[in-house]
Amino acid sequence: KSQEWHVALRVIDKIEKAGFEAYIVGGAVRDHLLNKKVNDVDVATSALPTDIKQIFSSTVDVGIEHGTILVLDEGQPIEVTTFRTEGTYIDYRRPEEVTFVRSLEQDLQRRDFTINAMAVSKDGTIIDLFGGIDDIKKRVIRAVGDPNVRFREDALRMLRAIRFSAQLGFSIEENTMKAIQKDSDLIEFIARERISMELSKIWKSENSFVGIKTLIESQLAKYLYGNFKNTLSNWKDFQTTKSEVGWAYLCLINRTDIQTIFDFYRLSKKEKTFVRNVLNAYNSFLKKWTVMDYFSYDLFVLETAYDFAIWQKHNVPFEKEHIAQTKARLPIQSIDQLAINGNHLMNWSSKKSGPWIKVALDAATMAVLSGAVKNEEVMLKEWFLNDFINEG
Ligand code: ATP
Ligand code: MG
Repeated sequence: KSQEWHVALRVIDKIEKAGFEAYIVGGAVRDHLLNKKVNDVDVATSALPTDIKQIFSSTVDVGIEHGTILVLDEGQPIEVTTFRTEGTYIDYRRPEEVTFVRSLEQDLQRRDFTINAMAVSKDGTIIDLFGGIDDIKKRVIRAVGDPNVRFREDALRMLRAIRFSAQLGFSIEENTMKAIQKDSDLIEFIARERISMELSKIWKSENSFVGIKTLIESQLAKYLYGNFKNTLSNWKDFQTTKSEVGWAYLCLINRTDIQTIFDFYRLSKKEKTFVRNVLNAYNSFLKKWTVMDYFSYDLFVLETAYDFAIWQKHNVPFEKEHIAQTKARLPIQSIDQLAINGNHLMNWSSKKSGPWIKVALDAATMAVLSGAVKNEEVMLKEWFLNDFINEG
């Protein structure tokens, strides 16, 4: 069992000794039953945040308004949340304010899917009030309670259903799916950042193709930018562990609308830069990478562009390993490995600094990369005075 699980049990023990109830809840219970690697272990408790702060000497208020306290128990962090229900749902979104409640049952009832609505007590007993164990066996995602009601409370849950089905390889239970199909348009009420976070998890999931198929089947794809319905086959071989690869691939498939995708999904600067680099590297790949391409693009960018070419059914004339090998064999790996810099150039030419320096250094880099000149100061000086100055 994971280290975090043991810390959670120790935390629960301390809360119980102070006279309250506490359980491991949510995703950790689900992943534990699935024998999957358990990541964040969340604890739910009858104790109020103020009680938790008294029980543990070291805590951080990470979401006290939602009843969540980060407990640092013997240095190890665990999130502890007071049993709660959610306030009134407005505009098909989860409310900001919550109401603390007495019983675990009420807390479990507000959770989205049966597989996410179980608890484990300190002695290992599983509290399963909505048939979560059964649904894990059947491998289905089923809403807790009436799915129509639950999706109208919080429309993001519809997309979460698809995301969990992609992550776990589960199907979506019939009535749950019908409810999504009926109210799919409500996804437009949800913040794009939230939508992007769920899509990022679909890109990284083991069954992203199934995830996208389910997006289409559920009708949610209609309200999401990306033309999924008409481009589904492009996703057949898609596979990644990094969400930015998914965004880049979505942009590749929708090449004429890259800016719209950037804006719609509120991509970060870093994501946008990655997308642009990969698409440029991909275009160069189709022409054939030059030594300059191997030099300029990061290994991961090149490898991603290479994967794209395969997923797009292009002929790839070499193995993927070739990319790293070629990059490693370059005479220089980056511009600061060049044996000369701007000062050398200014000394040799007796010219003042200016834009010409960059032009000359780029030319020197090119000369070294192509093998025309050795990366040594004397050789580069000779090249500079004889070839560069004369021709430039
Ligand atoms: P993971 O962290 O691997 O994405 P998780 O199950 O831990 O999966 P979280 O989003 O971290 O998912 O949420 C933790 C728990 O909170 C869920 O298991 C679920 O019980 C509950 N939950 C989260 N979001 C919602 C929601 N929108 N509606 C109802 N319950 C939710
Ligand atoms: Mg979680």
